[in-house]
Amino acid sequence: MTNRRITLAEGDGIGPEIAPVVVEILDAAGAAVEFERIEVGERVYRAGHPAGITPETWEVLRRNKVLLKGPITTPQGGGFKSLNVTIRKTLGMYANVRPCVSYHPVIQTKHPRMDLVIIRENEEDLYAGIEHQQTRQVVQCLKLISRPGCERIIRYAFEYARRNNRQKVACFVKDNIMKMTDGLFHRIFNEVEVEYPELPGSHWIVDIGAARLADTPELFDVIVLPNLYGDIMSDIAAQITGSVGLGGSANIGDECAMFEAIHGSAPTIAGQNIANPSGMLLGAVMMLTHIGQPDVATRIHNAWLTTIEEGIHTLDIYREGTSRQKAGTREFGKAVIERLGRRPEILTPVDYGAGAQAIETDYSHAAAPRAVKETIGIDVFLDWEEGTPANLGTRLKDCAGADFELRLITNRGVKVWPDGYPETFCTDHWRCRFIATSGQATHAAIIALLGRIAAAGYDFIKTENLCTFDGQAGYSKGQGEG
Ligand code: NAD
Repeated sequence: MTNRRITLAEGDGIGPEIAPVVVEILDAAGAAVEFERIEVGERVYRAGHPAGITPETWEVLRRNKVLLKGPITTPQGGGFKSLNVTIRKTLGMYANVRPCVSYHPVIQTKHPRMDLVIIRENEEDLYAGIEHQQTRQVVQCLKLISRPGCERIIRYAFEYARRNNRQKVACFVKDNIMKMTDGLFHRIFNEVEVEYPELPGSHWIVDIGAARLADTPELFDVIVLPNLYGDIMSDIAAQITGSVGLGGSANIGDECAMFEAIHGSAPTIAGQNIANPSGMLLGAVMMLTHIGQPDVATRIHNAWLTTIEEGIHTLDIYREGTSRQKAGTREFGKAVIERLGRRPEILTPVDYGAGAQAIETDYSHAAAPRAVKETIGIDVFLDWEEGTPANLGTRLKDCAGADFELRLITNRGVKVWPDGYPETFCTDHWRCRFIATSGQATHAAIIALLGRIAAAGYDFIKTENLCTFDGQAGYSKGQGEG
């Protein structure tokens, strides 16, 4: 087999300790790979690159398509952007796959029967990073959820479950509150679910889902979530297996993929030869299945299971009673190499089968017939602190003119005009909803409305068109909202 070229970034903190151990194990196991090393992260940030990566390094990533990466430290403050988020989004790695398994009885855990996989959407949601300070008192972050984004990740989750002999798929969202964004994710989950009749789907509101995951993780098998919930839930799930140092993770796109540990750069334990290399090693195992070397993946994973089963543990998982030998990072790696070719006897051995595991998702449904879109009004957001909602309502009604009717004013989503309550706390951030009297709001009419609002002395800070799609309102309608 010819060697597959892989980009390798050792990363920061404990990265330069765990990465060489992982490379040594891959080498000893006969992985047909060769590494092209790059430098990303802290030193590159400090050299003046705000995303921690140089333009030349992007070319290496694009050429090799597969990256094995140690953890990266994002410097605090100073406008530095997370390198992980940048790489995932720029190279279209939409699926983040994080298996979380407990290794009872060899690693202490309160959850001996836990074996689940978190599939987190990697590109959308609040991670678009679009934030604004709109008034002196109010800042905003945009939550963007797209139909193709949902469809890809949800199809990926079901395909992953099918190919890995998983039994069911759960979806966590907060669509009782975010009816449009999380509601879209839930709706598409329902649509895709019917195509996989052998895999029962379930839907959980994320708060109770999180509580059950932390308390009774054996209830779950594959869980698919939007980006932010997936980020939080996967750390919780990894931690309750016994240590966050045990989890590997894959970031998968149609073209490129990145494999890493779940944990970060752990700077406080760096340089002491005590870090657990298991997370990055299990990330590398996922990489081997992805590039079509499942036999090597199986060999390494079983040697690793044998090592931990024999009680050879790094400090983070070492417990008197269950552990037998406290191993440093390098010694742990050597112990895994010595056990290549062996299978565990207490823990369940793995077998990744003969074929490549790369999953390609078809999200053709995302190109559904175009809905008829009509603009029927506009929400105008104002920065204003000169009086009561009643004053504002009276004065803005005059600005509406013949083309629009002022339908309501809200403050932080609570209706304050008409018929507001004096008890409602108001900030300097007001949303004023104007509906076109003819049923159609043209751009010219909207511009004229904004002209009248500006001429009356109001500071409008943002607008949102109110549109219908095939007659369905494409905007939230709360209490009293037209
Ligand atoms: P962290 O995961 O680095 O550390 C959390 C805790 O877990 C610490 O107590 C640490 O000592 C321990 N730990 C983590 N990995 C371990 C291992 N392999 N072996 C033993 N113990 C381990 O999280 P943090 O402290 O919140 O973040 C530190 C830095 O890492 C930050 O700069 C953060 O931005 C970055 N980070 C990077 C990634 C990534 O590159 N994928 C992910 C998360 C955080």
